[in-house]
Amino acid sequence: MRRFEDSYRHKGLRKKLVDLLRTKGITDESVLRAINQVPRHFFLDTAFDEIAYEDRSFPIESGQTISHPYTVAYQTQLLDLKPYEKVLEIGTGSAYQACVLAEMQVQVFTIERQKKLFDSNKTQFPFLKSYTNIKFFYGDGFEGLPTFAPFDKVIITAAAPFIPPKLIGQLKAGGKMVIPVDEGELQRMKRLTKLDDGSFSEELFDQFSFVPMLLGKQNS
Ligand code: SAH
Repeated sequence: MRRFEDSYRHKGLRKKLVDLLRTKGITDESVLRAINQVPRHFFLDTAFDEIAYEDRSFPIESGQTISHPYTVAYQTQLLDLKPYEKVLEIGTGSAYQACVLAEMQVQVFTIERQKKLFDSNKTQFPFLKSYTNIKFFYGDGFEGLPTFAPFDKVIITAAAPFIPPKLIGQLKAGGKMVIPVDEGELQRMKRLTKLDDGSFSEELFDQFSFVPMLLGKQNS
């Protein structure tokens, strides 16, 4: 069950979370502001209400997870967003990350391969309707969204087994992709910048642990 009430207590816990993210090294004030705006407990079962603002991941439907707030802030910071940019997210999951992106005043296009998760975002979550700058898609993230390309930024929120070539193809020249790429148990966060000749340069960041990015759609 979910409850959509944002009390002073929730707001206070959220403020503490923002302070914690600052001590962990998140420096972009616009990212911290976005985290402070989005009621994370809305995305979780009420059973997690009291601990929704701890820096940890939680189970959501279909065996998936909502990422740690630190991970969400870290990836968002690496995207180096500018207002009105077009951002493609792979792995909508709970839609928490999509809302944090939307708070950064960008246009968000987010894809989920699990029909159940896509449907619950579309229909059971009236709070999301206030974000008119998010468009939800059911599909395979490896394919991207050719009809809406090119994108300024791409963010992958699942562990990618390799860098999806079609997503590089859908980036603008000078555009950036933030992607955790498999390295055994963990994934290395990478930031790719697309060059004018269609190739890309690569920067390496910390290691994280994500659920896998899987091929194809799942209709159950
Ligand atoms: N951004 C999410 C994190 C979700 S976990 C959040 O804020 O809650 C990763 C999500 O990626 C899962 O929901 C999983 O179903 C989805 N996923 C995995 N492979 C995918 C693919 N090929 N295309 C689209 N979504 C995918």
